[in-house]
Amino acid sequence: MYRVLDCLTTQHDPWLVLIAVLLCLGGVHTAFNLYSRACVGRLQQKLSWLFLTGVVTGCAIWATHFVAMLAYDPVLPVGYNPGLTILSLLIAIVATFIGFTIPGIATQNLVPARLVGGLVVGLGISAMHFTGMAAMRVPGVISWHMDIVFAAILMGAAFGMITLLIAGKAQTGREKTYGKIGLTIAIVTMHFSAMGALIITPDPTIPVPAQIISQSSLALAVAMVATLVIGIGFVMAMIDRQLRENASARMRIFGDSAIEALVMTQNGIIVDANHSFLKMIKGETATISGVNFIDTWLPDTSPAFRDGAEHYIETSLALSPGHTIPVEVIRRDLPADEFSEDAVIYALRDLRERYEAERHIRYLAEHDALTKLLNRATFHDRLALALEQSRVTGNPVSVLCIDLDHFKELNDTYGHIAGDHALREVGERIGKLIEDNVIFARVGGDEFVALIMHDNPNPATMIATAQNKAQALLDCLSVPVFINPGNSARIAASVGIAHFPDDGDDIESIMFHADLAMYRVKQGGGNHLVFFSPEMDDEYRYKRQLSGALRHAMDENALELHYQPQCNAHSSKIIGFEALLRWHHPELGQVPPSRFIPIAEETGLINPLGEWVMRKACEEAVTWTNPLGIAVNLSAVQLQNLDLAQTVAGILDDTGLAPERLELEITETALIHNASRSRKILTEIKALGVRIAMDDFGTGYSSLATLQNFPVDRIKIDQSFIARLMASEQAVAIVRAVINLGRDLKLEVIAEGVETEDQVAFLTAHDCDAVQGYKFGHPRPIADYQTTVSGTSVAAQHRSIVGIGSN
Ligand code: C2E
Ligand code: MG
Ligand code: MG
Repeated sequence: MYRVLDCLTTQHDPWLVLIAVLLCLGGVHTAFNLYSRACVGRLQQKLSWLFLTGVVTGCAIWATHFVAMLAYDPVLPVGYNPGLTILSLLIAIVATFIGFTIPGIATQNLVPARLVGGLVVGLGISAMHFTGMAAMRVPGVISWHMDIVFAAILMGAAFGMITLLIAGKAQTGREKTYGKIGLTIAIVTMHFSAMGALIITPDPTIPVPAQIISQSSLALAVAMVATLVIGIGFVMAMIDRQLRENASARMRIFGDSAIEALVMTQNGIIVDANHSFLKMIKGETATISGVNFIDTWLPDTSPAFRDGAEHYIETSLALSPGHTIPVEVIRRDLPADEFSEDAVIYALRDLRERYEAERHIRYLAEHDALTKLLNRATFHDRLALALEQSRVTGNPVSVLCIDLDHFKELNDTYGHIAGDHALREVGERIGKLIEDNVIFARVGGDEFVALIMHDNPNPATMIATAQNKAQALLDCLSVPVFINPGNSARIAASVGIAHFPDDGDDIESIMFHADLAMYRVKQGGGNHLVFFSPEMDDEYRYKRQLSGALRHAMDENALELHYQPQCNAHSSKIIGFEALLRWHHPELGQVPPSRFIPIAEETGLINPLGEWVMRKACEEAVTWTNPLGIAVNLSAVQLQNLDLAQTVAGILDDTGLAPERLELEITETALIHNASRSRKILTEIKALGVRIAMDDFGTGYSSLATLQNFPVDRIKIDQSFIARLMASEQAVAIVRAVINLGRDLKLEVIAEGVETEDQVAFLTAHDCDAVQGYKFGHPRPIADYQTTVSGTSVAAQHRSIVGIGSN
């Protein structure tokens, strides 16, 4: 140690030593910048940069050595052998290239690679030194203190290993600094220790060869080569750094322009993230760099996504303990390039808005927009699920079919906006009855359904629960609905109830049976609840059979019209006929219209049937020589057809019947069903020249108002009043009032159901215009009235009527 210090202090020029150290630092500084660059990118590029690192480091070691040799003054003239001098440079370059390459390209066993690489660099410094020393020529004998030589070699190797161990791949500023200091120490200590081992014994007899490089020439060469090479390396590292910074700035702008959050990781550690990510986590770059991305932010991530087997995942982003947001993450592997190691880019999108939109869309798809209750499709799905569960648990399910009573009237009276308002109000009230096991849905205009999932199989509990729920529903609807200031509407409901599995074993039959029960309530006037019973099914089946048979009869022309005369009350002269439909069923015999007309109305068959009657009656009447009137009954259902007037016009056109001979009989109840539409249709029919008669007058619920509002030509006093004429004071008063009303309003009045002479006497005495009834003729096939319609004499006609009437 003493020798080394003595050699350094007494035999070296301190200024030149300083220059050597500075040169070494400069070279090593550039070398480590290059090495740092060489450790990223693809292998081929790595090798190029590592080669450059080797050249610069080798030159730095070599230049340090020779400048330090200049500082050494052995008091003898010194020269150098050019071959060995150049060889020493090559040794330094090759050794450091190999030494840096081993850890530079290693991907595994990093510590051994760094130690081996450091050892090669350290030994390379020694090899260069002693080759350089071997190139030295002095007039004397050169010998070595071998113990110091070994110590110097050991020191070089040790510092070399320590240097690369702590510098690693020199990716951080700290690693680079440690590397630069370490390598400088390795070079300098090795050199000056080895110099301490040098012994030169002057011997003027030893000649110094002629082809040696002089000390001054070497100084010049070293300065030039070192400056040039280190300079080139320095400039290249600078240019490369600039390029990388430019590329990285472009990438940053690119990344920050993305709406998605982007995170780049290397070996799982965040190396970069864009603004969107920082915004998403409300963080800063400093807080996230160096953090393990998946462990910290996506703890719920599946192993497949972590390993890169999956590239898409919907998961939770952990913002803080207990606070997560749903995100979708796309993973892209970014292979190493000239600027970067293998990396992974994660693109994250906040799913809160999408989930909210999806939830909203699902809500819209499942709910009725007006009442906010479930809609038909969703109810169907829930019912299917409930039946499935019921099959497993054995607990029954009840279905309630609910139809609002008189809702159509409310709509007609106050308009659709008020109707919608009422439905909303109903929806709100029904909504309060929803429970965990009870759901409600709106399945049509004013139709609702409920589903009760019972929690035990007891039939008594099932019935009580369903009944209570239905009653609660009726109760909640019993409060009138506010329509506008001064008006509120009374809404009630008809509720039919059926149970699974007792009343049906699938959705269709349960729904159908609850519907049948509801229909029963409707027929009974509504505002009530009824449980399904099998006899309802029988009735339905009977009705269906009857309607099938009626359709068949219509197709087979098995229906016929009978005609009942209508006479002048004073002269008894026939003024027209009412066409009445007759159906003779092959097994049931004669089926009365009161039985089959309602069924035809329910099934919609009344439309073609009514048209058939009208056409048939007109075809018949047009053949009569005597142009008598012909009255045809119209059903309430027919009066809802907007093209009814067109149908009537078509029939008149086809048959050629004069419009004024046709009279259509309409009941008051048919008119008030949809008053504005009925008025419109009747006005159109009236415009054709066809007459309108108000059938069954007095039995409806606002007869007088109807007369005022509809274009009526004739009033038909209902037969119930005529039948009671001789027995009831009220009937007398009513008939008298109606006849007077007709006279005042200039409307004809006809009494129907006239059977007795007393009734005729009363009616003629009170100046009733016309009469119809068994007294003047039963409804018969037209053949029976042939003389009348063919226009034979009045006397003959009268005789024939009396004859028939007394049958
Ligand atoms: P409506 O229009 O009031 O017809 C009069 C009913 O009274 C007829 O019964 C007729 O046979 C019966 N009648 C006539 N004179 C007397 C009498 O002196 N005493 C008694 N007790 N009854 C008498 P019908 O034919 O059974 O018809 C019943 C109802 O069926 C009709 O009442 C009408 O509303 C409906 N109807 C009949 N044919 C048709 C049709 O072609 N279309 C439509 N829509 N309804 C029809
Ligand atoms: Mg009639
Ligand atoms: Mg009638």
